[in-house]
Amino acid sequence: MNYTNYIQHLFVEEDEVLSSIDSRLRSLGLPLISVPPEVGKWLTMMVKMTGAKQILEVGTLAGYSTICLSRGLKDDGHCTTIELKEEHANLAREHLAKLHYLDKVTILIGDALEQLAKLVQENKKYDFFFLDADKVNYPTYVELVIQLASPGAVIVLDNLFLGGRVLDKNDQHPAPTAVRKVTDMLANHARLESMILPLGDGVGVAIVQ
Ligand code: SAM
Repeated sequence: MNYTNYIQHLFVEEDEVLSSIDSRLRSLGLPLISVPPEVGKWLTMMVKMTGAKQILEVGTLAGYSTICLSRGLKDDGHCTTIELKEEHANLAREHLAKLHYLDKVTILIGDALEQLAKLVQENKKYDFFFLDADKVNYPTYVELVIQLASPGAVIVLDNLFLGGRVLDKNDQHPAPTAVRKVTDMLANHARLESMILPLGDGVGVAIVQ
């Protein structure tokens, strides 16, 4: 047994909807890249711990993390999630409907850079962000969500280890380069107090000052 199995065995119990998502993705030929169950549970706990009321997620896929985030909200909370592909958004809607979560989630379909810029223009504010879309745009996503952040907001980013590729300085492909850049931003940005947790594929967490 490895640490991940040990943690999952002790602390994670997926409901029927969450546990069905991987097989649904597989049957549609879509990638199995939802957050792992232990990250999902930690997201629910983070929302509860921070008392977040307005969540903004970037990268919905089939709604696994959207469900975990929404599950931590109180009745007056709301989760907005941005997804590029209509097929993914429809799948997420299907899963959210099964749990009667549709009224607490808004899915914005479109490119995240455009959707985030629009939210900035509309002067929207959020107190919790979860970034889990295309890695090459992570640095720009962080710049944009800082503009959308209420004081003390929390930003969580998935895949900061990128399966270990961030440690290989010879790997200069766009994704690891962008993830190294965003990690440097988390470590050095004047308005961020941050840490990476060795959970899943490396989860970044930052408080916006
Ligand atoms: N957060 C999801 C979960 O744990 O259940 C997994 C998200 S998956 C890793 C990444 C998602 O981001 C995909 O559904 C993909 O279509 C979406 N995506 C990729 N590039 C995007 C972009 N530029 N704008 C919005 N969504 C994007």
